[in-house]
Order: sequence, then C-alpha cells, then structure tokens
Amino acid sequence: MSEAEKTSVRHRRYGMVIDLDKCTGCGSCMVACMAENNVTARPDETDKKKSITWMRVYSFDNGKGFPEARTCFLPRPCMHCAGKGGHGHSPCVSVCPAVATDYSAETGIVSQIPTRCFGCRYCMAACPYHARYFNWFDPVYPKGMEKMLNPDVSLRMRGVVEKCSFCFHRYQKAMDKAFYEKRKELEEGEYQTACTQSCPSGAIAFGDLDDPKHAVYRLRQPVKGLYVFRLLERLGTEPKVYYTTRHEWIRKAADRTVNDEKTAG
Ligand code: SF4
Ligand code: SF4
Repeated sequence: MSEAEKTSVRHRRYGMVIDLDKCTGCGSCMVACMAENNVTARPDETDKKKSITWMRVYSFDNGKGFPEARTCFLPRPCMHCAGKGGHGHSPCVSVCPAVATDYSAETGIVSQIPTRCFGCRYCMAACPYHARYFNWFDPVYPKGMEKMLNPDVSLRMRGVVEKCSFCFHRYQKAMDKAFYEKRKELEEGEYQTACTQSCPSGAIAFGDLDDPKHAVYRLRQPVKGLYVFRLLERLGTEPKVYYTTRHEWIRKAADRTVNDEKTAG
C-alpha cells in the first residue's frame, strides 16, 4: 500500500471490553496469547519475576467466608494507553529513550520494537499496569515446539522488553487482504486478537471503540446496574481496555479509591 493510500485510511481506536461476570479464570486467553506470539515458557513458571505473560489473569475475592464467598478473575493485557488528551503520550512511550515503543495514530496500538530496545527498563518502571516483561534469558522452547512457532511474530532476545501488541501482525494481515480486495476499511471481526477468539465464555470483545457498529462501542454504553470502568483511570493514562460487571464489590475491589461510588450505569 502506498504512503498516500495508507494515510487515507480512517483512524481507528482499537480496544477491548472484558466482561468480568463471564470470565471463569480458565486461562485459555493466556495460553492462546503465548502460542500466537511465541512467548517463551520458563521451566518454573511460578517465578513471576522471570516468567512472561502478555495476558495475565488475576484473581481476587470478596473476603467473605462460605456461603457468601465470591471470586473474580480479571484478565489484564497491555492497556494500550492513549495518555492524557488521547495524544499517544502513554507512560511507557513517554519515557523510552530509544523510541522502541510507540503509539500508532492509525490504530491506537502501542507497539514494542525489540530490535530498538536496549533494555534500560524505564518503560517497565513507568507502566502502572505491570504489563511489560524483561527477557532475562534467550528464548528456549521445549523440544519440537520450535516447529510450531508463528512466523508472523519475531522472537525476542535476552536483554529486551516485550508486551502485548493486540496481535498487531493480525492487523497487518487483515489490511493486506483488504488492500488486495481494493478495500480500505476492515469489517468488524476481520481483525481479532488470539485471546478474544480463544475465550470459551466470550468474555473478551475486541474492536474499534469509536465505531458504533462494533460490539466494543455498544458494550461500553451506560446501562442501569452495569459498572463500566478502566483500571487506574484517575492516573490519566487513558487505557483502551474497559471492564464491565454488575457486582458492586468487584467494581470497588478493582479500584479501592472508588469506595464512595454508589451507582452503576
Ligand atoms: S499498559 Fe503499560 S505498557 Fe501498556 S501502554 Fe499502558 S503504560 Fe504502556
Ligand atoms: S479465556 Fe476467557 S474465561 Fe478464560 S480466563 Fe481468559 S477471559 Fe477468562
């Protein structure tokens, strides 16, 4: 696609809406993400300082005993923060001295370019969502698994940072296909992340947050009794991952500063 044609493409703001009341904590999204993006698995994945999980499912509970005990599972990808004013000043992008992470005005996706990264880890310190991971080792895959690697995603070497890309290679493929079919726009569903497709509960919706035809637009609209929120909104990071729940305790547990918030929708 020529530069002129590329610039005439309508700008999108890709994001997610995750229904916390549907997530069962099965972890399919984590596994699908690792397989799709050639994320290495450490021999001991309990060592959370060294393991890499672009998509991580956290669990928390309401602190009550039986029979009132309840648990919530919260999948956490990179939030693809747009920064204050939505101008692309994400915390990680703002601090990277090597322009190894950048904000795309075309898609709203925050990229990570391993060949530019020199491992200073400023971005990890800046990210309030712990969505970034450092490669302490060169990638090692269990015998035979190297034949299953995804050729569309480059491997990361020791000494660089990596994170969720919203499966950006899938966007590129979808745009290539559209170009050969003489289209400039993608239909909803043509570009989907691996975690969205793998979730057996349909808890993760992905699409253009600004397009009323996309589910992620509709799912964020105010509905009585539904809490729609983002993590650490008060920091002004403008994350593009939204969460929904009908349970007040989940809304409050997800951000302890909103304890006085009484109403949903
Ligand atoms: S969640 Fe962290 S890594 Fe992702 S864009 Fe925001 S600051 Fe950057
Ligand atoms: S795949 Fe779906 S249900 Fe399973 S943990 Fe991820 S979001 Fe939750």
